[in-house]
Amino acid sequence: MNIRQKVLFKIKSIDLKKDELPKKVSSYFGENTFSMSAMQKHISRGTFEAFKRWMSEGIIITLDQANEIADAMKEWAMSKGATYYTHWFQPMTGLTAEKHDSFISFTGPGKVIEKFSGSKLIQGEPDASSFPSGGIRATFEARGYTAWDPSSPAFIIESTLGKTLCIPTIFISYHGEALDKKLPLLRSDEALNKAAIGLLKIFGHKDVKKVFSTCGPEQEYFLIDKNYYNLRQDLLLTGRTLVGAPSPKGQQLEDQYFGAIKERVVNFMFEVAEEAYKLGIPVMTRHNEVAPHQYEFAPIFEESNIAADHNQLLMELMKKVALKHNLVCLLHEKPFAGINGSGKHLNWSLADDKGNNLLNPGDTPEDNLQFLAVLAAVLRAVYIHSDLLRASVAMAGNEHRLGANEAPPAIISVFLGDQLTNILNMLEKGAKTTVSKKDIMDFGIARLPRFNKDSTDRNRTSPFAFTGAKFEFRAVGSSQNISTPITVVNTIIAESLDYVAEKIKKASGGKNFNVAVLKVIAEIAKETKGIRFEGNNYDPAWVAEAKKRGLPNIASTAEALKALTKEKNIKLFEKYSVFSKEEIVARYHIWIHTYNTILEIEANTLNEMVNANVVPAGYEYERLLADNLNDLASLKASSALKVDAAAFNDLKEHLAEIVAKIYYVRRNAKEMTELLEKAQKKHHEERAMMYFEELKPLMDHIRKHVDQLECVVSDEHWNLPKYREMLFIK
Ligand code: ADP
Ligand code: MG
Repeated sequence: MNIRQKVLFKIKSIDLKKDELPKKVSSYFGENTFSMSAMQKHISRGTFEAFKRWMSEGIIITLDQANEIADAMKEWAMSKGATYYTHWFQPMTGLTAEKHDSFISFTGPGKVIEKFSGSKLIQGEPDASSFPSGGIRATFEARGYTAWDPSSPAFIIESTLGKTLCIPTIFISYHGEALDKKLPLLRSDEALNKAAIGLLKIFGHKDVKKVFSTCGPEQEYFLIDKNYYNLRQDLLLTGRTLVGAPSPKGQQLEDQYFGAIKERVVNFMFEVAEEAYKLGIPVMTRHNEVAPHQYEFAPIFEESNIAADHNQLLMELMKKVALKHNLVCLLHEKPFAGINGSGKHLNWSLADDKGNNLLNPGDTPEDNLQFLAVLAAVLRAVYIHSDLLRASVAMAGNEHRLGANEAPPAIISVFLGDQLTNILNMLEKGAKTTVSKKDIMDFGIARLPRFNKDSTDRNRTSPFAFTGAKFEFRAVGSSQNISTPITVVNTIIAESLDYVAEKIKKASGGKNFNVAVLKVIAEIAKETKGIRFEGNNYDPAWVAEAKKRGLPNIASTAEALKALTKEKNIKLFEKYSVFSKEEIVARYHIWIHTYNTILEIEANTLNEMVNANVVPAGYEYERLLADNLNDLASLKASSALKVDAAAFNDLKEHLAEIVAKIYYVRRNAKEMTELLEKAQKKHHEERAMMYFEELKPLMDHIRKHVDQLECVVSDEHWNLPKYREMLFIK
């Protein structure tokens, strides 16, 4: 029995102790967060009021007040058993980073007290020289500062032997440039806030103080048994399988989606939910996805900034909890070829401080006009800046989902559903003449229904779909930090809200306001018509159609990222103070570099697997065949056995075939090594294109031959766990 087969006998659920009934969620939701209510209990009224003003009006608190909050935070955390604290932040790599410090201060030889000051709360200084900065921070001034983000509550992370207070922070350079993904998100929310308030004013809502984006990211993932994972160096090092023949049963039967959730997986989900609730993460639905062993968690939407933190935390929790259940949670966008990939549907909308959702039609014709104006702004934003949306989801893993063989093309379009499409089409026709009150009735605007999810989208192929009261940006990768896509969505929509507001102001000057609004909406609907697509995005005809419409279709990550360096986009980011030119260009370089690094790791891993695993298995099988052939030949020669000539030849051909396959695999692997060496001499932008155009096809080619070998080499000799095992064993 080989190592892979032995693992089969180890596959089992862990023994779970069930010593108490599940607690009511309401009794512990958010217990590990220093929420507003926890803060209120621990600080003076004056400081609490000051803190609230800071959050709503941006009036910063004093150092004394910060000290009081720091002390309260420490007391609260210590009462829960925390002994360390860390500034928790989101550097430009996909992960979160932490630098842990103990609460203790040395007050004399052998003497310690627990102390945590306001200045430490507000600013920390991790040894940051190894975080990517894209050249912003030269190493001689290798200081990056973490600064408290008070809009996201601090929380406690539990591990078996201790607890740590985590303080959400932004990460900035000595000169204040953003070195993380969080600060730009906060800035973009501010831009959106200003623009949206401007538009609302025109519609007569003068009392709205704050508008913010809301976000609910649906998180897809795979679970596989840990024993298999450990035997697959590709999963271990790259998060995806680099080789692996398709299983005779894949997802063809479509019997997985919403199927009964397996006991083992349900237990995992229960624990993730419990841990998430303690941290105040509102996970709600959970279900099976289309592919075998693929699942999804969806939270209730929150303010984007919090949603982004919570999504990072949720991903970390999922990975951690899975291990406790002898499972591994795969967040990669395409862990298994030929099987559906994983994405993160970013549900996005706009809310005001009065509790209104700006993407909800209202009860009056005026409300509906406002709704249509916001909708028009979204259409325009996506139309003009689809290149930026594409760039915001450009990464090595997602490249397998956007524009790859098994995926929809990398074309950004918007789906609105029949009803809204009809309204816009009617408006467009009417736009030439003036619009009367009666037209408003005729267009069906006077009374728009609430677009609940049943009356709108069931078009699951659209990358940017209106799904009733929100848009769903579906091109986001499952492992991605959602901050960047949200930052881009917020910024481009802020600009369009400004544009719409300006247009309406100009058009309405003294005249009928409603007519002016309709005219602007109609104009935008007409101008941006090219971005609307109601059909099937997977249909090859769409590629040709989109080309005619002039919509970009960019499959390569490096190419897509170029949008970040385009003049129009740099201007946009600078205008809304979301990124300076230096900051956005730095990001461009970091992300190209990350792409290259990932591909190099993948290629080197494949090389090792081929040479240390696949080829040796092939040789063993080859010897089996050769021995067999020899024996048969001598039996045949001595006339001890009558061997059918065709059968004898078949064996010979089979052996020759195996010899040839092994040779192809080795030859291509050698070629891959040479290519990698050649690439080292290129500048990283050129290198990225080389990897996309040459390395990836070569890796696929190697894979094809390896997968053919997998299907013929005796099961006994094949050590790598197979798809059918990883994906179908319960
Ligand atoms: P779907 O339409 O995909 O079937 P749901 O209606 O359950 O599913 O919503 C999916 C996700 O969209 C959830 O995470 C939910 O919180 C989020 N969502 C709903 N409304 C909003 C909103 N106004 N803003 C942002 N996200 C929202
Ligand atoms: Mg969805």
